[in-house]
Amino acid sequence: MDTIDAFLRAEMEPLQYGVFFGALVVLAILELFAYRSSKAPQRYRRWPTNVGLTILNIIVTGAIPVSGVFISDYARENSIGILNILEVAPVIALAIGFWFRSFVSWATHLAMHRIPLLWRVHRVHHTDPYLDVSTTVRFHPIECLINTPILLASLLMMGISPITLMLYELLDTAMAVFTHANIRFPRRLERVMRFVLVTPDMHRVHHSSWQPETDSNYGATLSVWDHVFRTYRDKSPEALPSMQLGLAECQDDRSTSFWWLMTLPFRSRYLSENTFLTPQGFGLSENKANRR
Ligand SMILES: [Zn+2]
Repeated sequence: MDTIDAFLRAEMEPLQYGVFFGALVVLAILELFAYRSSKAPQRYRRWPTNVGLTILNIIVTGAIPVSGVFISDYARENSIGILNILEVAPVIALAIGFWFRSFVSWATHLAMHRIPLLWRVHRVHHTDPYLDVSTTVRFHPIECLINTPILLASLLMMGISPITLMLYELLDTAMAVFTHANIRFPRRLERVMRFVLVTPDMHRVHHSSWQPETDSNYGATLSVWDHVFRTYRDKSPEALPSMQLGLAECQDDRSTSFWWLMTLPFRSRYLSENTFLTPQGFGLSENKANRR
């Protein structure tokens, strides 16, 4: 365990970038052949915005002065957190820490949908009217700044070990790209996978423009918490390709405007369906419900 810990500490940054960009390239190629939706992905309009937000988030994340590993080390050295106080065996601590970390991710995502102020920020991610690998890091940078203290507090509370945290972050990075990819699997394989992991079909339901579906499937890596807390929602594979994605009230060019998205958290909770750019391409929504 110590050898893995030392290796991860030394190589974490290149590993994380390698996993992210490796998954991005492999899954983007897969999207060309095994796609779930055959709708035109409008890459020339969506990708510049999504790539711009990705770069911005990489910069913001890099500028945060405190790392999770630093806090985990601090908690261990000072016997802070449940697992450190109880001196749980490393393997058991890894299993519990992994589950707890995925629970924190699930709970934070739930809060992003349920608390109106947080939804204003998180809805930037949900405005993408299409879903593919480029949607992965389409977040407002404020969301990153909100998530970080929650993560650090949870590390201190549970005493999650640095190795658990680093392994989780690597899996989470790969899973984030995987769950947003526009890919399909054979039905039986997909059903087996979703017992443990969040699948692209599961997460596609979360990106539906219909609110009951948007407010479901909050998991990012493990599917267990959606099952436990009954936020799991299924949809037949036949219905998935034609499902409207994004926000019902924002099916126009605003969803691909970088500056509009940057100011979205400061706009009204109730977005009008008026377009300030041309609505060509994505079409206007038939669902007029402003949801929050
Ligand atoms: Zn969400």
